[in-house]
Amino acid sequence: MPLNLPGILVPFHLLLNPRLVVPHLVVKDIRQLDFRELRRAGYRGAVFDKDNCLTLPHEDALVPELTDAWKECCQTFGSGYVLVVSNSAGSHLDAGEIQAEAVSHRLAVPVLRHTSFKPSYSCIASIRAYFASLPSPVRDEELIIVGDRLLTDVVLANRMACKKRIQAKPRQLSGEQSVTITEKQSYVLHATTRNSSGPLAIWTNGVWKRDSPVVRILEKQILRGVDSWILRGRGVLAEADARNFVRNLPQADVPKQEGLWKKLWHRFKGS
Ligand SMILES: [Mg+2]
Repeated sequence: MPLNLPGILVPFHLLLNPRLVVPHLVVKDIRQLDFRELRRAGYRGAVFDKDNCLTLPHEDALVPELTDAWKECCQTFGSGYVLVVSNSAGSHLDAGEIQAEAVSHRLAVPVLRHTSFKPSYSCIASIRAYFASLPSPVRDEELIIVGDRLLTDVVLANRMACKKRIQAKPRQLSGEQSVTITEKQSYVLHATTRNSSGPLAIWTNGVWKRDSPVVRILEKQILRGVDSWILRGRGVLAEADARNFVRNLPQADVPKQEGLWKKLWHRFKGS
């Protein structure tokens, strides 16, 4: 695994601005996103991470379960307005851009070529340049950014909002209502201050294939800490707003969460 220096430096940035790690919406995977509702709400472009969000890590093809959702997404936003930004395909490690070509072909959307890993400002500049170059340019606040990693995808989305905030004070879109996290509301696990200055940061916390477990645990602990000690339930996206964008997954499609002891017991029994 190559060293992601911009990612490694993120914890230092979090000391100054812990909210960077907090997504606006949390879903299991993109099947829970109502793309038509997002489009109706004014979002005109979408940025997706690749590994463990759309495809299995280091593979080019869409996870078969996501076929319908992906089709709906591409139809809703339109050709060119859905972009894959990956730290593998299209990055400077993708020699000859072979993987970017393969992913672009399999997913039928462009893959951003960029020279610096997410969540670097250089990568943000490349995303902005891409959406500014479209026939109908898309502003930061008209984007959704979807990914499975808090320290790269979510931080990248929130950094885009931070830069704009320096130029203009954001308008609060939603009330100061807090979201109660219950078992039944697992699709809206968290929602934070949503203002009009940046993209909507969406975290997909379902993992298609196990990778970097230590980093994922660390990310969750950081989010939990920021939620408990800094946000304290204040300044969140109204639950009603979040619900508009989120669908329930059919129960059969929700991956079963099995505890460690149960896993060991099943392994011991050989089942
Ligand atoms: Mg990923």
